[in-house]
Amino acid sequence: MYRTACPSCGAEVLFRSTISTIAVCEYCQSTVLRDADEVRDIGKIGKVLEDYSPIQIGTSGTFAKRSFTVVGRIQLHYDAGLWNEWYVMFDDGQGGWLADASGQYMVTLDIGPAKNATPFEQMRPEFRFEHAGRSFVATDVRTARCVGGQGELPFVVGAGYEAKVVDCRSGDRFLTIDYSDAAPRLYVGSPVTLAELNCQLLRDGDQILQSAGKLKGANNVLDCPNCGSPLNYKAGVATQLVCPACHSEVDCSGDRATVLAKHEEANRYHATLDVGDSATIDGDHWWSIIGLVELEEVGDDDSGWSEYLLYHKHKGFRWLVETREGWYDASVLDKWPEAWSENSVTLNKEQYRKLYPAYDARVTYAAGAFNWRVKVGDITTYREYERNGVRLAKESTASEINWSRSKKLTNELVAQWFGKKEIVTPKYETGEADDPADLNKLSIMAIVWLLVINVPLLLFGSFGSGLFWTVLAWWLLRLPLKFNKDD
Ligand SMILES: [Zn+2]
Ligand SMILES: [Zn+2]
Repeated sequence: MYRTACPSCGAEVLFRSTISTIAVCEYCQSTVLRDADEVRDIGKIGKVLEDYSPIQIGTSGTFAKRSFTVVGRIQLHYDAGLWNEWYVMFDDGQGGWLADASGQYMVTLDIGPAKNATPFEQMRPEFRFEHAGRSFVATDVRTARCVGGQGELPFVVGAGYEAKVVDCRSGDRFLTIDYSDAAPRLYVGSPVTLAELNCQLLRDGDQILQSAGKLKGANNVLDCPNCGSPLNYKAGVATQLVCPACHSEVDCSGDRATVLAKHEEANRYHATLDVGDSATIDGDHWWSIIGLVELEEVGDDDSGWSEYLLYHKHKGFRWLVETREGWYDASVLDKWPEAWSENSVTLNKEQYRKLYPAYDARVTYAAGAFNWRVKVGDITTYREYERNGVRLAKESTASEINWSRSKKLTNELVAQWFGKKEIVTPKYETGEADDPADLNKLSIMAIVWLLVINVPLLLFGSFGSGLFWTVLAWWLLRLPLKFNKDD
């Protein structure tokens, strides 16, 4: 441990690790560079946004049987949101990184230059990268800016520090190719959960909510900077808001809420539940809906569905999806499938089969808070697979891929979660002939036609057989209606 006085304000600055190059003064945000035996102030760095992360400086844990302590962090901002890179120090003095993005965690270690990396400009999701005999797939390609720093760090990050990174996955392995310097570097590790890391000294949910955010006076209520309507907002938990009144996209990751974009009126069609609705799930009553998105398949106006982002102060995020086929409980996969193709996916050695042909979906409505930037008009390509009622979905855009798993829920269970008497789904207008109302019209028309055709028979012909066929045809036409009602 090395203590020194901040060259700018005189407060004590700690260097716990011998390999840390800089430390950020807690009081004045000066970046203090340790160089031989001298310390220099090399300029200020932004304050980090206190977000939903339960990790803090001092949190300890174990990765691959080695103990570590969190000593610093940088916060990175890219066009769709914000994530944390926690700098950790292992007991043997080596440094490492614990990335924390929307409640997903990855530990990586710097293993040196990435010699065979494709140039950043040519990198795209799905590109292959070979490392140590394994084939990795690029899943994220992003350019980010360092917006805040805290504690100790292994290299100099000034204001405006730009990171160019490509994340890659191979089953339970994870690696990042970092193109921020002239020669790309390789960070190799695994996706992890905080439980697997056996983390100690985490912040609990109350501490998170008390300290979250840095927007002055905006801990509970924030007025939309565009229209002034109150925004349902849990400071820091999610930084990207969409105003339900005027549909402006509002960014809350900086010192003040700023309008990123204004949108034309967007109509809400499908969602049964609303932002702010709270739920008791498995006896746990801290869940609430913080964001709502409606989507439809591109080229099919009748295909809408809704996705709800739920947050729990101790358990983080989960998704609830409402479709015309019913409700689904969905979560983002921490560990990715071992292999996937057009027709099947292998996850944990189990094969899932293609459910539908790939389709594109467009966001038609959004409201509430998200941890990435949601825009009406955003298009994502979906591929869905199924095994024994469990669905896997791959969602891809030009810059990233995500996998999620979902399981069907009964209407009764969803109603019970949200304390409602009943929830009726689907409440979608299909416009197709399988709508009972339309069927009714069709069958009445058909019956009228049957009668018209049969009138001569009824009057002049073999009266009995004409009546028999008319009655039989009428009964057959009513059949689908009965099935529909019995659903
Ligand atoms: Zn200072
Ligand atoms: Zn507004």
